Amino acid sequence: AQDPRLSVIRGTIREVPNFPKDGILFQDITTTLLDPVAFGHCIELLYERYRDKGVDVVAGFEARGLIFGAPLSLRLKCAFVPLRKPKKLPGETIGEAYDLEYGSDRIEMHVGHVKEGDRVLLVDDLIATGGTMVAGIKLMKKVKAEIVEAACILELPLLKGKDKLVEHDVSLYTMVE
Ligand code: AMP
Repeated sequence: AQDPRLSVIRGTIREVPNFPKDGILFQDITTTLLDPVAFGHCIELLYERYRDKGVDVVAGFEARGLIFGAPLSLRLKCAFVPLRKPKKLPGETIGEAYDLEYGSDRIEMHVGHVKEGDRVLLVDDLIATGGTMVAGIKLMKKVKAEIVEAACILELPLLKGKDKLVEHDVSLYTMVE
């Protein structure tokens, strides 16, 4: 049987047609954040899955991966590293370009904040094509980190992001579709 928390979470996510452009059905998690029970379920499900996995770093993607990643890192008592859009971080950065469902972009992190051999969990709100996640995977491989898994609240399975991650030998955990 499916964990009853999953349907609670799905029930709080608002679908907004044609945002940010025509043809995109936007999955809006700001409505999940209004409900501390549902938001808490997201963090607890992640905590339960990763508490015994020796995670050193939770890395969260700007913007919505920061919202889920930061509380999870506190729960796991490990470091949190933000993966930011270009020119946001004040220190020396290392980056990776990527394509996403609507447009293209680049992520950056501070040099030295993820170290060689660190066990990293990548977190975002949603995986669509997998382009964002693959950029995170490549970035972690550049600094010779070990990737524990990629975790998202939501998956759009038709876009086959999971297959793209498998090509990079990274498994994907998602809660709802
Ligand atoms: P992708 O790189 O194609 O896997 O896209 C994932 C990234 O884009 C995540 O950071 C999502 O927050 C965002 N994203 C893509 N498609 C959607 C969508 N339909 N609804 C909400 N966010 C989306």
